[in-house]
Amino acid sequence: MKEWKNNIRKVEPYVPGEQPKEQNIIKLNTNENPYPPAPAVCEALKRLDPGRLRLYPDPACGLLVNSLAAYHGLEPGQIFVGVGSDDVLAMAFMTFFNSEKPVLFPDITYSFYRVWADLLRIPFETPALDEDFRLRAEDYYRENGGVVFPNPNAPTGIAVTLDFIRDILDHNQDAVVIVDEAYIDFGGETALPLLKEYENLLVVRTYSKSRSMAGMRIGYAMGNPELIRALNDVKYSYNSYTMDQTALELGAASLAEEDYFCQVIGKITATRERAAKRLAELGFQCLDSSANFLFAAHPGYDGGKLFQYLRSKGIYVRYFDSPRIFEYLRMTIGRDEEMERLYQALEGAAYENL
Ligand code: PMP
Repeated sequence: MKEWKNNIRKVEPYVPGEQPKEQNIIKLNTNENPYPPAPAVCEALKRLDPGRLRLYPDPACGLLVNSLAAYHGLEPGQIFVGVGSDDVLAMAFMTFFNSEKPVLFPDITYSFYRVWADLLRIPFETPALDEDFRLRAEDYYRENGGVVFPNPNAPTGIAVTLDFIRDILDHNQDAVVIVDEAYIDFGGETALPLLKEYENLLVVRTYSKSRSMAGMRIGYAMGNPELIRALNDVKYSYNSYTMDQTALELGAASLAEEDYFCQVIGKITATRERAAKRLAELGFQCLDSSANFLFAAHPGYDGGKLFQYLRSKGIYVRYFDSPRIFEYLRMTIGRDEEMERLYQALEGAAYENL
């Protein structure tokens, strides 16, 4: 074999949910928001000056950082922004998880954590969720090189309380603890109030779900200025211009419309509650979700076959063929009419051999 072939980095990449090319697909597979971004975002988009594109964007992302600081009542030095929270989380893994000790995250969680750890050669351990798919705080009392978990967790949708997070922080003063709040706007308690007390806490958020801007790629982290400085040092050692000018302007515009934001969240959480009831009536066991998706299994159906059956009906949901969760489907909460189509298809499943 040619020598250079041995020098290629071998990684097993994260597989994102499908983005179908066909029209008329009911797309409930990547936890996108079914409603459009705030009107202020659409206005800001129309005002964009194409002449501005010849210039590099502000490498410090000042407009967005300052807007987020004002929105959350924090200092600009407490905010780091990136190209979606995937970028922010990858930077955080690179910046904070440089110990010989293993980083801890649950066995069932956002599957990208494992991929970043592998890519960056970070040792890790994955304590098992309990039989009800809940995190166990005691699993995170052991020595480690860092802790990361989503709240609410993905793909279960189950949230932990603020007391639970405090407990984890109290037992982990010597490592950075990352709480990935990708879905926190749909339910659960944010860890933000704990930033004042714990200098090793990093809270990560995204515009992709509650702010209907997955296509714009905006994520951010909040933490004490020392953590944020360290993240920026790594960012500037890698790529100075992570955020494009459009993202900076539209990201700032989104924050100005709190009423619209709350209205969209209200619609999605109301649909989620109705959907949980309907799925239960259809015989599904549905985990208690605080997110914009439901994770549910049906004792009468094979999860993989049901996934394929729904796909054949033009309804895309997410299926993970992994231990413990291979009977489950993760279904994003869409518009009510999309959910009706889902229920109809699930009713029809009774007549198929699944
Ligand atoms: N964290 C969790 C738990 C997620 O489910 C996702 C969405 N795939 C992300 C982070 C990343 O989202 P984004 O990069 O779009 O901000």
